[in-house]
Order: sequence, then C-alpha cells, then structure tokens
Amino acid sequence: MNAAHLPGSAPPAAQRPSPLDKPAQYLRGVGPHRAKSLAAMGLTTVGDLIEHFPFRHEVEPPPQAIDTLVLDEPATVIAEVQSVRLQGPMRRPAVRATLRDATGRMSAVWFNAPHMADRLRTGGLVRLFGRVTEHNQFAEMVNPRVQRLDGDGREPPTAARLVPVYPATGKLPSRQVAVIVEAALREADGAIVETLPPALLARRKLLGRREALLCMHHPPSLEAVPEARRRLAYEELLLMQLAIALARRWTATNARAPILANSPCIDERIRRRFPFRLTAAQNRVIAEITADMARERPMTRLLQGDVGSGKTVVALYAALVAVANRRQCAILAPTEVLAAQHFNGINRYLEGSRVRRCLLGGRGPRTGRARLLEAIAEGAMDLVVGTQALLEEKVRFGALGLVIVDEQHKFGVSQRATLRSKPRASGGSPAAFVPHYLVMTATPIPRTLSMTIFGDLDVSVIDELPPGRSRVVTALVRPPEEARAWLEVRRRIARGEQAYIVYPLVEESDAVDLKAAVQEVERVGRTLLPGARVGLLHGRMKNEEKQEVMSRFVAGQLDVLVATTVIEVGVDVPNATVMAIQHAERYGLSALHQLRGRVGRGSRPGLCLLFAGGGGEAAARRLDVLCRTCDGFRIAEEDLRIRGPGELLGTRQHGWPEFRVANLVEDVELLTAARDDAARLVAADPRLAAPEHAGLRAELRRRFREKVAFIDVA
Ligand code: ADP
Ligand code: MG
Repeated sequence: MNAAHLPGSAPPAAQRPSPLDKPAQYLRGVGPHRAKSLAAMGLTTVGDLIEHFPFRHEVEPPPQAIDTLVLDEPATVIAEVQSVRLQGPMRRPAVRATLRDATGRMSAVWFNAPHMADRLRTGGLVRLFGRVTEHNQFAEMVNPRVQRLDGDGREPPTAARLVPVYPATGKLPSRQVAVIVEAALREADGAIVETLPPALLARRKLLGRREALLCMHHPPSLEAVPEARRRLAYEELLLMQLAIALARRWTATNARAPILANSPCIDERIRRRFPFRLTAAQNRVIAEITADMARERPMTRLLQGDVGSGKTVVALYAALVAVANRRQCAILAPTEVLAAQHFNGINRYLEGSRVRRCLLGGRGPRTGRARLLEAIAEGAMDLVVGTQALLEEKVRFGALGLVIVDEQHKFGVSQRATLRSKPRASGGSPAAFVPHYLVMTATPIPRTLSMTIFGDLDVSVIDELPPGRSRVVTALVRPPEEARAWLEVRRRIARGEQAYIVYPLVEESDAVDLKAAVQEVERVGRTLLPGARVGLLHGRMKNEEKQEVMSRFVAGQLDVLVATTVIEVGVDVPNATVMAIQHAERYGLSALHQLRGRVGRGSRPGLCLLFAGGGGEAAARRLDVLCRTCDGFRIAEEDLRIRGPGELLGTRQHGWPEFRVANLVEDVELLTAARDDAARLVAADPRLAAPEHAGLRAELRRRFREKVAFIDVA
C-alpha cells in the first residue's frame, strides 16, 4: 500500500463541478463568519451539510386556537403579528410582539435576539411553538420558535410538525444550522445521485439515497426515520467494507512477500528455546501464523491475546522461523522501555543461540548506532528490536522478511501504511515486495470493530492463559475505604512483594498531572507507605533514567513503582502483586484491564485496587464490570458500548473517517450484510467498472481519497 496506487484525485478537466462540492460559505445566509463555525463542525461543502443529520426531531403539536392555550403546556399557534416593540435596557433589549388569531390575543417575547424585530412584520402570519406562560393576563410564549408563513400564498399547515434538532455549537445554534441545511438541501437537490446498484437496493430492501437523505431531515413521521437511517448506515458500512475488500485484493494481486517455510526440524529447534510447553492456544495461533508466512501472499495478521497470555513467545516463534529462512525480523514496541523489555525477554530465551540480535535505541552513542545500522542494512543482523519510531527513520534492512508490531493498546492504521512501503528501500524488486506483517494487541477487540478498523487483517486469538496463573482480584476503593486499602498494600510490601501505584497522566504533555504524580511519590513514601522504597516512572524522563528505575524495580531494590499509564503497559515483574490505580474513573475499562494484567504475572494472587473518588454512581457501576469479570472481550464490548470506538482504541487517529450514521454496537447485522455484499461485488467486478457501480466508485473516491491509498479503481 503506497501512494503510487492512489487513484487520480484531481477531477477530469471536462467534469462539471457538482453542487455538492460548493463551499458552504457561498450558500445564502452563510458568509465567512458562519462558514468558520460550520468548518469547526467539519462542514465545509453542501455535500457535508446534507449529511449533517439531526440527532432527533422535536414534535410540534398541531396548531391550536389562542383561546384554547393551557398554561405551562407546549403549544403551536398560527397568528398574525399586530405589533412589535423593543423593551428593556437599550444595550440588550427584548423583542415583544403582540399577536392575534380569530379567537384571541397573546404576546411573545424574545430575549437576546434583536434580529427578531426585523424578522417579524406587522400584519404578517407566523407559526409559533413554545411553552405557554402568562403576561398581563394574556397568554405569552418566551423565546418561541418562529416560522414565517406569509408570502407563499399557501394555506397554513394544520398538522403536527417535526422539527429537526441538529448537532450545533454555541456560536451556531441548532435553529440556524437548520436554516443552513435547508438551503444546502435546496442547492443539492437534483445532484443527489444513487450510489447503490439496483440489485442491492432490492436485495436488502433499502430506500433510495435521495429519499433517505430527505427523510433524515424531514421525515413524514417519526416512524419513518429508522428505515432512512438503515439505508444510510448500510451505505457507510458497505463503502468501508468495499475499501477493505479492494485493499485486500490489491495486496493479493500486487504485493509479494518472501516464502518463510516452517519444518519439523525448525519447529523442534525453536521449541527447545522455551522452558515450558506452549499452551494449546499458542500452538493454534502459531499454526495460523506459520501457514501465512509460508505463502507468497503477504501475511497481515492481528494477534490478540489478553495480557499475560503469552503473545511474546508466539512472536518470537514467528521471528525465529523468519531467521531460519535467512530473513530478518523487526520487532517494534510503542516505547523505548517496552522495546528494551522485549529485547531482554527475547535475550533470555535466546541465550547461547547464534541468532544475531540487537536493540536499536533512538539515542545512545552515535558510532555504535551507525555500526548497527550498517549491519542491519547488510543483513548481518537477524533480529532487530526497537520502537515504532524506527519506521519513520530511514532504517534500511538487507533482507526484511517479517515485521512484528506490538501495539499494546494503541493502534495506528496510518503507521501500518508507512510500514508496508518501508521495505521498498531494501532494494527488492520495485514492484511491491513487502515483508509479512504481524500486529500484537492486548486489547480484545470486539468483532464489529476488528471488521471495520482492522478489516484488512486476519485475526488470531490466544484465548487461554498459561497454567498456574491466579486470577487478579479487583476491588473498588471509595474514599472511606482508602486507609484500609493502603494497609493491605503495606502488608504485601512487608511480605516482600512489590506494588505499582498508577497515576492518570493521560497526556505526556499534561504538566499539571505530572506534578501531581511527582508529588505523589513523596506522599507515598512519607505517609501512605512509610519506609517503602519508592521509584517514579513517567514519560517525560530520559530513557536512561527510565531504564535505571525499571531495572531497580525488577531487581527488587524498589518496593513501589509510582508510574503513569503511558509507561508500564507491558512491564513484566512477577513479584509485583498489587496495583493501586488512582482516579480509576478516568480510564477506559480496557485500559484498566490491561493495567491490572501487570499483577497477575506470578503464582501469587494479584490484587488490583481501583481508587475512584470522583465520577459518582455511574463511574462506580462502570468500574464494577472489572470487579466481576476478567473476560477481556466482555470488558471491551462494555467499553465500546459506553465510550465508543475512539476511546476503546486509545486514539481517534485510526485513519478511518468517522461514521455519521452507522453504529458499531447496534448495526452488527447490517455490518455483516455489508461485508458479504462487498465481497460479492469485488469478486464479480474487481475494478467496479460496470456502469451500475459508477456511483459506488465515485463515492469511494470521495470518502477515502487520501485515507486509503489502494483504491485501484480507474
Ligand atoms: P503477553 O505478551 O501476552 O502479555 P508474555 O508473552 O509476556 O505475555 O507471557 C507472560 C508470561 O508468561 C511470561 O513470563 C512468559 O514467560 C510466560 N509464558 C508464556 N507462555 C507460557 C507457557 N506456555 N507456559 C508457561 N508460561 C508461559
Ligand atoms: Mg507482552
């Protein structure tokens, strides 16, 4: 996947500009100022605006006569404006109007809306919707919604009305958004073309695109909305699944990877390295991975497994198969600390082996690094461990065969693209010679998510922990119970066990929180755990400092490690049996689940204490899921339900556009249907060249232009 395969993004010269591409700014009533507010919501064109859907509709009841108004009830009235006047302070006058219908008189008042004085003409007919109050013994509405009815000569509508409520900002309230979207819909009408082929519309019983779009904004009844939503959600999901299917196909036909074959002899030699028998789950995923590696088609596989399930061992197995085939393997971790830890772990297994291996740090002595780079380029280094930063640098590999990325809980689809194009520097054939590719993650990803975000990856799951693990007991600690919780931590330290105290330094740049963590170290050593030897680990420390603290903790010279989440995700210290997570309510459940995996590493039972001062009952209920289950998938589903995919993935930068309509929790069936349909479409018409696929092709281009660099459709 690289830029060379981008479809031409400039439109052909002859093509007339579509009204959908018209900048929002040139719509009637928008102008530069509002255009800015719209842009802040990601709305820059007419096309964007007509897909800016209301999140609900308010029901305005049918109009009623003024003499039937009931105090405190919401009501709709159609009346004639008798007079309009400004009242109150000169700087911020209120606008008060008197209105009349055949049955009586009422007033309406608008605060902070001087423009209302211009909108209301004496003698004009208006429709008002608002709650009924009272003023000088007449009915009144405060800040009612107004619709001018004069001028078009039509009979005023007598039915109830559905008013769309749009996502809005402080500067641009929903009512104004509604007016702008209205203008966009008028502008776009006629240019809204069907994207789905007739056969699909029929098979899935879907509304036409134009009908669905209009219905989202102005449904004839509330009951009509779900069908419109279903149609548009399906379209979003289908487009994504098509993009994925096309990418897969592109890789299958254009990219070549080296064949890295396993054999009983290699297998036996590798297994001898491990001081334990692999679990059944490990053996199963190893079979899946090695089958992939033995093919020319590049492997793109996601290896999922809970923390401590033994992914590193599987990764090393795959790496050694590559090395046995005289190819290099790069193992990349998200941080320097984790890279160092991987390297140390791997070194332990490889003691006495002839596999040439190195840890390629970001810093360190210049000359040493230069020599390593040279060796890597010459193919004189079999196994290179480093951080993902290596991808951005110009590290050249002589014979790269396998790349393993340990994503922990952060994913970056965009980084994957970099990685795929990297090996071209290796001097292989200029076509698309790529290494096999394995991503490891400890976040169990619900099927719906992996089908979308990671749809182009095959998935292997290690669903079993190595024997002899005891489950981590998790408890919620409310403020009154804190003293008792610290007592338990002290007791464990007295027994010679070690503890983590985790602080929510969410952003490494968050100076305020950092200070809190630093102060906490002192408080911990002095008052909470007096006498304990306490170390601090956070992302702002120099690498050497981090390594130093880590190795002291590993060696048992520190009892307690106060750490930020950024750092310790993959840390493996079996003697650490207790973890106290401060402000647990600020984390996602999956992140907490991974954190607590750090204390289930040895044979002694782990304890995870979730300190949750803030967040109230809702937070407590959410955290309770962790106390009740250790099933990472259940926890991830829960996270997905509560916090949405962006949060679960730990980053919103996952490279895919956000869905406007589809919902990954609720639309599972629709997603499955879209995936099947996409597979069928691509199999039948791999370039989407048939005339009935022109709409899909155009829409794919529009949506995935820069995002996905593989849409090989002309
Ligand atoms: P992960 O990377 O999935 O969190 P690791 O690969 O780091 O898990 O393994 C966790 C611990 O379990 C390590 O100490 C490792 O030596 C041990 N381990 C891995 N596989 C097995 C196994 N089959 N039997 C016993 N111990 C194992
Ligand atoms: Mg690991």
